[in-house]
Amino acid sequence: MNRIFSAFGLVLIVLFSSCDKDSVQSTCATDIDPAFCEPDIVTIDSLRSTRNVLIVGVDGMRSDVITQSSTPFLYGKSIGISSFYNNEHLAEDFTISGPNWSSILTGVHYCKHGVVTNGFDNPNYAEYPHFFSYIEAARPNTNTVSIVNWLPINTELAEGVADYAPTLPITDDAVAQEAASLLQQTSPFVSDVMFLHLDQMDAAGHNYGFSNDIQEYVESAATIDSLLLNLFSIITQKRNQGEEWLFVVVSDHGGFGTGHGGGQGNPEVEQTILLIEELNSRFNQDQETSQVDIVPTVLDYLGIESSRLNCTTDGRSLLN
Ligand SMILES: [Zn+2]
Repeated sequence: MNRIFSAFGLVLIVLFSSCDKDSVQSTCATDIDPAFCEPDIVTIDSLRSTRNVLIVGVDGMRSDVITQSSTPFLYGKSIGISSFYNNEHLAEDFTISGPNWSSILTGVHYCKHGVVTNGFDNPNYAEYPHFFSYIEAARPNTNTVSIVNWLPINTELAEGVADYAPTLPITDDAVAQEAASLLQQTSPFVSDVMFLHLDQMDAAGHNYGFSNDIQEYVESAATIDSLLLNLFSIITQKRNQGEEWLFVVVSDHGGFGTGHGGGQGNPEVEQTILLIEELNSRFNQDQETSQVDIVPTVLDYLGIESSRLNCTTDGRSLLN
């Protein structure tokens, strides 16, 4: 091939691979060939090797529903001194569940993991895996758990990576109940790093409307708030017994009217909440955040550093 044609080809490759969507944050910054990130060198901070994490994913939680009266627990945490809280946390350009849970759990934007629908067509999780895989590689004895109302998270992403990732239909109440009993019991195993997904806010939004003015949506937020309070009280008990826990609440997108697709540029849809709470950690409070920041933050907290993740991730740790 002569030089003009090869240069033309290069331009085409750049054009087709950049997937620029006019968005500042949620666009892939650079195209990385993961092969250049090999070999993976994993280092472990032994001082952090007994730490634990609970992440609760709340589907379709619009930021304005967090108020002192309807979600007293989350509101209290949002202004707490041990918390990082952002009510302008940025969703992926594709404001639906598949791309966003994928970015939350892999630490890379949709350009890399490839999921732009809820059908999970052609995901590239082989190159950009669920973050549990970094934990399992570094600390194989760590028990990783994923319990979800929206099953594709487990069937597409967590199954085969997590130590426990059930794939039978389950309600939000049952997710929270099973999580509570696993957190409180040491049998059949100790749960060290847990991801949960709750779906009822998204359902209420689709049925009645995503808004702080819609009674049914606010009531579902209040129900979620009490589930979160119950789970957090278990974390508090475990902290009182000397355990160290990072507590995270994040949503995949907001909503407008009774939908949320195509919400790029609409703050009510493309912005949602991120809460991170830990008693002894300090957070970069001024940092803007998007879905890809959760994985680097969690691994940083656990004292796990993967050169491959450092090379491929689009996110940054929020820990100081
Ligand atoms: Zn939805």
